[in-house]
Amino acid sequence: AKAAGGDRWQWFDAAHDEQAQEEARLGDDLDLALLRDEMFLLFQPIVELPSGRPTGVEVLLRWRHPTLGLVPPDVFVPLAERTGRIVDIGRWVLENASRQAALWQHRYGERAPAKVSINVSARQLAEPGFVAEVEDILARTGVDRDRLLLEVTETAVLGAGAPLEAVRELRERGLRVALDDFGTGQSSLSLLLTVPVDVLKVDKSFVSGEAAGQAGAVIVEHLIGFTNGLRMEAVAEGVETEDQAQRLHEAGYSLAQGFLFGRPVTAEEIESGLLTAAAR
Ligand code: C2E
Ligand code: CA
Ligand code: CA
Ligand code: CA
Repeated sequence: AKAAGGDRWQWFDAAHDEQAQEEARLGDDLDLALLRDEMFLLFQPIVELPSGRPTGVEVLLRWRHPTLGLVPPDVFVPLAERTGRIVDIGRWVLENASRQAALWQHRYGERAPAKVSINVSARQLAEPGFVAEVEDILARTGVDRDRLLLEVTETAVLGAGAPLEAVRELRERGLRVALDDFGTGQSSLSLLLTVPVDVLKVDKSFVSGEAAGQAGAVIVEHLIGFTNGLRMEAVAEGVETEDQAQRLHEAGYSLAQGFLFGRPVTAEEIESGLLTAAAR
C-alpha cells in the first residue's frame, strides 16, 4: 500500500493493523535517526512587511530516511512525541540551531538573522530539567539569548507537567517565547491571559488555508488588535501571495513568513542571501 497513488504517505489510511506495524517500524527507525546522522535543519526566512526584508529565520527539522527518503515532519514529529523520542531529537535541534545562530552572529554581526525561532514540543517543555538544559546549551554554544525565540503551541503549554511554569521561567531568564499555530487550539484567547508570551504566530489556515476567506480575514484583523493591546508581536504564517501580504500589511502586520518570501532552505543558502543583500 505504501507506494499507492503516487503519495507514499497515503498508507496512513491503510488497514489499521498494517498501519500500526508500519508506524512501529518507522518508530524504530526514528530511534536510530540521530545516531545515523539522518536529521538536518532547514531555515525559513521571517520578513518585515511591507519591505520583505528578512529579520529572522524559523528552524525546520528534516529527516532523510535511508529507504523512504524525506519523511514529512507532520508525520515523524507527532510519532516522536508519542514514543518520547522527541526529547532527544528536540535537544539536538536546540543545540544545533543555537550553534548555527552563534556562528551567524559571530560571522555576520549586524547582518545575521536577528532572531532564530526554534520549535519546542510539549514533551520537551514538560521535562523537569528543560530550563536548565536550555541554559546549558546557551553556555556551550555561546549564542546570545536574545537571538533565540522558542516556539510553543497552546496544546503544549496546557499539557501535563509544568510547561506553563517552564514558559514563565524561560521568559524570566530573558528568553523570548512565541505561541505557534495560534487560533487552531481549544482556548486561544483565554490562554493569552494566563500565559505571557512575546510573539503570536497566527496560523496559516487563517492567512492562506481553508479558513482564509471572509472569516479568516476578520480573525486575522482582530488578532493584530489583541497583540498590540497586550504588547506582543504578531507574525502571519503561510503567506503565499502578494495579495495576502498586502492585506496583512494594511491590517497592521509588520512580520510575515511564507512561500512568497522564501521556502525553508539550508544554512548555506541563508548565508549566500546575507552576502548578496550586503553587496547591493
Ligand atoms: P510549524 O511550526 O507551523 O512550521 C511551519 C510549517 O509551515 C513548515 O512546515 C513550513 O514549511 C510551512 N510553511 C511555511 N510557509 C508556508 C506557506 O506559505 N504555505 C504553506 N502551505 N506552508 C508553509 P514543515 O517544515 O513541514 O513543518 C511542519 C511542522 O512540523 C511544523 O509546523 C512543526 O509543528 C513541526 N516541526 C518542524 N520542525 C520541528 C522541530 O524542530 N521540532 C518540533 N517539535 N516540531 C517541528
Ligand atoms: Ca513553528
Ligand atoms: Ca506554525
Ligand atoms: Ca503547524
